[in-house]
Amino acid sequence: RAKRMGRNRFEFFTQNLQAEIVNSKRTADEILAGIERDEFTAWYQPQFCARTMQLTGVEALVRWQHPTHGLITPDRFLGIAEELNVVATLDQLVMQTALKDRMRWAAMGINVPKVSVNVSSRRLHDEALIASLKGLSITPGELCFELVESIFLDDREAITDINLEQIKALGIDIEIDDFGTGHTSIVSLLKLKPKRLKIDRQLVMPILESTRERALVRSIIDLARSLGVETVAEGVETLDHARMLAELGCDMLQGYAFARPLSFDAFSQRTIDTGWKFAV
Ligand code: C2E
Ligand code: MG
Ligand code: MG
Ligand code: MG
Repeated sequence: RAKRMGRNRFEFFTQNLQAEIVNSKRTADEILAGIERDEFTAWYQPQFCARTMQLTGVEALVRWQHPTHGLITPDRFLGIAEELNVVATLDQLVMQTALKDRMRWAAMGINVPKVSVNVSSRRLHDEALIASLKGLSITPGELCFELVESIFLDDREAITDINLEQIKALGIDIEIDDFGTGHTSIVSLLKLKPKRLKIDRQLVMPILESTRERALVRSIIDLARSLGVETVAEGVETLDHARMLAELGCDMLQGYAFARPLSFDAFSQRTIDTGWKFAV
């Protein structure tokens, strides 16, 4: 009986696996077609100064506007895009869109001081990256690259160092994303002299109930500050979290408490309607 069950289970798994393979093959083809059809774009989530609650910038997040499946978030396609070697293409597209949209906002009288974009390992290591950035004439502070810790752990370290210094020299800020989830020590990360550290939402979300996470977040903020590195909290879901983070000395805040990621039009409209006024 056990044997039979075992075999059934095995068949069940292989069937599932086959379905999954067919599925991801289909998704892969769809992603490539979607890039051709120009279906990928940037959505924007605002960030605020924790002290004044003023808008400091936006994070651009990739979205896939699929003709039949509707809006698709990156968790559904980034893994396969990575395998297809097209994440750097998406990163580039999001960056260009975000810089263009920042100008469109300026023309509408909306000041978005800074746009942050996520940069994959693949793109950071691309030897053509610096040359392509040089063509952009970036105003210092207007563009920020969010990099996850794992980027600094792989074997192509040397290129990373060279590219990082050149990126900084072009006036682009470096921010460490999802800080607190990786295995790098805060000390070794701060040696990179990033402009900002973005504290992961797994640490941020429990700070009201858990003294452990609160202490952890406080010490990250204190250490960063003592080294001249700013901090951003992600996953700020309530204004109570926002107040606590301000009390802990966090510099900037991002999360559902303020807004979810919005399309260009929705962000523009919300800015016009509300001016992003929140009680300090
Ligand atoms: P991330 O860079 O850490 O971006 C923050 C993610 O948290 C976003 O998910 C955002 O919608 C979500 N989020 C924001 N505020 C809250 C909150 O208060 N609560 C909760 N629970 N979630 C919140 P999204 O847009 O689905 O992106 C997921 C991840 O995909 C990003 O995490 C980033 O690692 C990656 N990603 C997004 N866009 C790009 C891109 O253009 N290029 C690359 N390479 N990666 C990207
Ligand atoms: Mg990010
Ligand atoms: Mg993040
Ligand atoms: Mg995150």
